[in-house]
Amino acid sequence: MNKYNISAGRHEKQIEKMKKLTDSGVCAFCPEYFIEHHDNPIEFETKHWIVTKNDYPYKHTTTHLLIILREHARSMKEITKESRAEFMEVLARIEKQFDLNSFALGMRVGDMFYNGGSVEHLHAHVVVGDFSDPKNHNKVRFKMSSVPDNI
Ligand SMILES: [Zn+2]
Repeated sequence: MNKYNISAGRHEKQIEKMKKLTDSGVCAFCPEYFIEHHDNPIEFETKHWIVTKNDYPYKHTTTHLLIILREHARSMKEITKESRAEFMEVLARIEKQFDLNSFALGMRVGDMFYNGGSVEHLHAHVVVGDFSDPKNHNKVRFKMSSVPDNI
């Protein structure tokens, strides 16, 4: 089973990494491989989640954090009630720790070939736009659907 949707990759280096990881069968978001394959340090971790900066931040962001589940799962129904509840606490901690007065949350759940995700492992994105030049503000775009290449 594919752990990556390579066609959803956004950066040349990211796509290259996804291809290598696909060949080795490694999930870079699983805790046992995370440190080796993720460039940014862990900002904080809880019993069920890891928070780090995205190695490949979306265009026009000033903050782009990932909240990554500490076990391999691809949907909310696969994880415990405790993990789901803790996710909300992680959001509150991020808001406070990074002193965010505004942010957007993006999360794709389930089959990444239909939701536009690039990594199967359940994770969420916390995004803050760039407001340094308000008159020329560029919206941050978050892909929310796709179809598999073979359709
Ligand atoms: Zn994983």
